[in-house]
Amino acid sequence: MSAILSLEDIVKVYRSHGSEVRAVDGVSFDIEEGTTFGLVGESGSGKSTIARCALRLIEPTSGTSRIDGEDIGGMPRTGLRRLRARTGMVFQNPVAALNPRMSIRDSIAEPLRTHTRLGRRAVGSRVDELLDEVGLAASHAGRLPHQLSGGQCQRVGIARALATRPRLLVLDEPTSALDVSVQAQVLNLLQQLRREHRLSYLLISHDLDVVRYMSDTAGVMRGGVLVEAGPATEVLVEPRHEYTQRLLAAMPQAPGAGPPDPPRTPTRDPNEKSLLP
Ligand code: ADP
Ligand code: MG
Repeated sequence: MSAILSLEDIVKVYRSHGSEVRAVDGVSFDIEEGTTFGLVGESGSGKSTIARCALRLIEPTSGTSRIDGEDIGGMPRTGLRRLRARTGMVFQNPVAALNPRMSIRDSIAEPLRTHTRLGRRAVGSRVDELLDEVGLAASHAGRLPHQLSGGQCQRVGIARALATRPRLLVLDEPTSALDVSVQAQVLNLLQQLRREHRLSYLLISHDLDVVRYMSDTAGVMRGGVLVEAGPATEVLVEPRHEYTQRLLAAMPQAPGAGPPDPPRTPTRDPNEKSLLP
């Protein structure tokens, strides 16, 4: 196996109005091709900053990010464009991530128009294919984001991220804004897509259950530092680090750490229901 993403000693210091925030302080980890690396940690621990540095959406203060062995640090603009086509990002707030005035069809077509030389018909058929892959109907294509449910908008976000057939997706809290009943459907879709397309994921979540369900390997962030990393079963089930143990114990769903889950009243959104297989 080889690493699809390799981060080496990433540091990010934000400077604004004379003050400094050391958001990420020397983080290194690898993601092997075809696997999911789950990154957990409290809000403000630096998870999103790592995601942005990994894809060079922001410049790290120092450190190296390699995608498929290629150092993306010194890449010129054209190289970065190619990089954008080989990677994809899915954001926390699916509705805000979409242009409110753009139809679903155009939103999904946009990365194809930007990053490929596909003609109009080829773009159209690729959009149809993507709609189908993420479980949306052809009838959704002409709608605007506000006419879709949150779960459906996130499916559009996933279709956009997949449009150029990337090999690595960065998923930053992809289900945190969704209803509990919809979360599992979106996670299952992501699992299925990963297997079918042999994708690799950097999955960021503050929800340990989500990371445990999805990840092969996992890391725990605290105050900009990766305090623990390794196989997900070890890190998230039998953590060595005292901080991870406390994080696990604080989770209501952690084994033995609280009352059993109450039965979930289905708060399903009627649009989403029709998508169930
Ligand atoms: P997480 O995703 O784990 O919640 P972030 O990476 O968003 O954490 O933030 C890490 C730290 O960096 C926080 O203290 C946050 O306030 C700070 N931060 C994030 N983005 C910026 C920015 N653009 N300018 C200044 N500080 C920032
Ligand atoms: Mg974040």
